[in-house]
Amino acid sequence: MPGEEYIETYVPGEIHIGRLKHGDDLLAGILALCTEKNIQMGAVQAIGALSTAKVAYYHQNEKKYQEISLDGHYEIVSLIGNISLKDGVLLCHAHIVLGDETGNTQGGHLVRGCTVFACEVIITALKGKTLQRGYDEMTGLPLWNFKL
Ligand code: ZN
Repeated sequence: MPGEEYIETYVPGEIHIGRLKHGDDLLAGILALCTEKNIQMGAVQAIGALSTAKVAYYHQNEKKYQEISLDGHYEIVSLIGNISLKDGVLLCHAHIVLGDETGNTQGGHLVRGCTVFACEVIITALKGKTLQRGYDEMTGLPLWNFKL
């Protein structure tokens, strides 16, 4: 079946609802919740606000991330991501949309350096094979390798 090697099927497990602490690093805080609840495969969503913000943009030609520090305070309009493993280590791949005081939004790939003002997180644990990330030649990214 075409594409069969690029898809796995999961059953939703427990849904964890958490609140990150004021001053936490957003990405580290999400990973800490996953570690605490022993989640290796999952779907993440969050809303809230940040007191400092940083995102990254992937330059496809150079195959490099560029970090972008954003000044000011932001609403987390939307954070969506997933949990899996890379080199046996828990990895949260998430993208975030941030809203400023004028209602304009910016966003990108979530990196460390986002300081939580307040944040509500929902993590759905997924039952099934734990996916491992492996280097993808075409994109230069650590993508899911369904054969690992
Ligand atoms: Zn990304």
